[in-house]
Amino acid sequence: MTNSNAATAAEAEPHTTTNGSAKLAPTMRALVKSKDQPGLWFEGDRTLPTGSTGTVGVPGPTEALIRVTMAGVCGTDRHIYEWDQWAKGRIPVGIITGHEFVGEIVRVGEGVTRVRVGQRVTAEGHITAGTDFSSRTGNAHIARDMRILGVDRNGCFADYVMLPQDNVWPVHEGVPDKIAAVMDPLGNAVHTVMSAGVSAQSVLITGAGIIGLMAVTVAKAAGASKIFVTDIDERRLKLAKKIGADFVFDPREGDGWIDTIDQHTPGDGCDVLLEMSGAVNAINTGFRALRHGGTAALLGIPSKPFDFDLAKHIIFKGATVLGVNGRRMWATWYQMEELILSGKLQLDDIITHTLPFEQFDDAFKLMQSGDGIKIVLDLSK
Ligand code: ZN
Repeated sequence: MTNSNAATAAEAEPHTTTNGSAKLAPTMRALVKSKDQPGLWFEGDRTLPTGSTGTVGVPGPTEALIRVTMAGVCGTDRHIYEWDQWAKGRIPVGIITGHEFVGEIVRVGEGVTRVRVGQRVTAEGHITAGTDFSSRTGNAHIARDMRILGVDRNGCFADYVMLPQDNVWPVHEGVPDKIAAVMDPLGNAVHTVMSAGVSAQSVLITGAGIIGLMAVTVAKAAGASKIFVTDIDERRLKLAKKIGADFVFDPREGDGWIDTIDQHTPGDGCDVLLEMSGAVNAINTGFRALRHGGTAALLGIPSKPFDFDLAKHIIFKGATVLGVNGRRMWATWYQMEELILSGKLQLDDIITHTLPFEQFDDAFKLMQSGDGIKIVLDLSK
C-alpha cells in the first residue's frame, strides 16, 4: 500500500522553510459576516488567522494552521446567511463563517506532537479548554466553555483556519475529500443513531434534511431492521427510500402512516425515534409512533419552546429520551471512520453539488430552493 501522506509531504517540500513550515501569502480569501444584515461577503485580502500568541499566521504552541481545500455548507451557515433571530443573537459581525472542511496542515506550533505538517485533516469544531467537569468525564462535546468554529470564532470558509491540535482529526487515506469535508454533520447522524442503538430495531426518522438522510444510511449500515422516514419534501423522501428507508411518509397526507408503522412492527409502534427536524408536528407525531418503552434520540432544534404532552409521550410510555449535541470525542469519529471505510454508507446522492468557493451565493440559493441538499465548496483552486 502506498503512503499518500508521505507523497503529499514530499510534494510540499519545495515550498517549506527549514523548520517544515510553509511560506504563505500574507492574505487569503474568506467568506465573512461583514454586516448586520442578510448575506455573506467575500473578501479577497483577509489577513491570515491569528495564533493564540497573537501573531498573524503563526500557530500558538499547541495549534495547527490548516490550508482548507474543501468546505461543507451547513444549515447553520444558512441561518447566518439569512440572518435569522438565532444568528443575530449569536454571531459576532466580522466573523469568518464555516465549520465543516478538509485540508492540509501547513504550520504547527513548537509543542504540537499529535499532528504534523503535510497531513490531510478535518476537525471537530466544538472547542473546549478541556478543564471543566464534562470534558474531564468523557463528555467534552457538551462542555460548558464550548466555542464553535465559524460561530463563536473564525471558521473555515477561508484559505486557512487555525485550530488547537486536540481538535484536529487526521483523515484516513481511504476517505475521499468530499466525504472528509462533511464529517461534522455525518458525525451528528452517527452520534444520534449510535446513542439510540438501532441494531435489529425498527427506526422512525422524522425529517429527511441533510442529517436525517445521513441517519438513514447510517441506521441501515448499523443494522436497523426497518426504517421509516417522514418529511414534507417528495424529492427527499424518494432519496431516503433509495438509500435505505423501507417506508416513507408525507405527514401532510394525514396520520394514517402511524397505523402503517403499527402494522409493520409487532403492533406497538417503532422501537426507536430519531427526531431530526425540530418541527413541532414531527416531534408530537414521532412520539405517538414510538412504542411503549421505546427510545427517542432528539437532534432537531425547535425554533422556540412549545406545548408537549410529557405525561402521555414520555412518562406513561416509559420512554427513554436522549438529547444529542455534537459528536462524542472521539468515539463518534472512530465509529464514523469505520462506517465510511466499510463502504456501506450511501453518501454520494446526499452531497448534490460541488461549487467553486466564489460561487457560495449559488450554494445558499440551491439550499433555499431545495434543489441542493449537501453542498461542498471547492477551495483547492
Ligand atoms: Zn454543520
